[in-house]
Amino acid sequence: MRRKIVAGNWKMNTLLQEGLTLAEEVSKKAEKSLPENVTLIVAPPFTHLPEIKKILPQGIGLAAQNCASESSGAFTGEVSAAMIASAGAGYVIIGHSERRQYFNETDADLNKKLKEALANGLTPIFCCGENLHEREKGIHTEVVREQLERGLADISGDEFSKIIVAYEPVWAIGTGKTATPEQAQDMHNFIRTVLKNIYSSETADDTTILYGGSCNPGNARKLFANADVDGGLIGGASLKADDFLAIAGSF
Ligand code: PEP
Repeated sequence: MRRKIVAGNWKMNTLLQEGLTLAEEVSKKAEKSLPENVTLIVAPPFTHLPEIKKILPQGIGLAAQNCASESSGAFTGEVSAAMIASAGAGYVIIGHSERRQYFNETDADLNKKLKEALANGLTPIFCCGENLHEREKGIHTEVVREQLERGLADISGDEFSKIIVAYEPVWAIGTGKTATPEQAQDMHNFIRTVLKNIYSSETADDTTILYGGSCNPGNARKLFANADVDGGLIGGASLKADDFLAIAGSF
């Protein structure tokens, strides 16, 4: 089902106590100002998940920022989807461009991670997006189409219905350069066309597609006003409760 979602990716920020304070602040402010039709999700570091789970109200979702592509075994340093679920998270970000870029995660790896997440009852937030070079070469739609087709290989329509997609142009992440509302709308609309080809029109229409990349309280309203933009995946601005809630109030 298509939903309005604002998700905060804290990345490798906050020590445990700071994370708890931020989660508490977000919860308190959400109680006062979160529109009823908007779902808020926070994605703190792995180490914080069980403690934050204890203090988050039921209505706020908890996400991990990554999961292993394998289920269990000799994979030192990895955290499985089952472990994430057992820590109380209901969501997991998969395929963030920082994972693709700095940790060499391939579409095939991400496909395995999506399957692991789904098999363990987690809702994946599956990220796609082109880099600056690809945008300048005019191949951005081709890049995103391939990321989707390869990442979603052998995932059925039924399984896919649980996935949230996030379009995050790499050139806009943490750079202060946001995609224009038109660029975001065009790509989100294109993503629905790709999903229609892989699955069906109904599935494409029902998919929640978030925009991510330097989204802030000043630009969220224009981005979210687009027909195919269902909310945001927020990095930097999610570390300030006021900004995060202001973004969530921008529909
Ligand atoms: C992100 O990391 O997903 C992101 C969108 O970051 P920022 O909002 O800081 O650009």
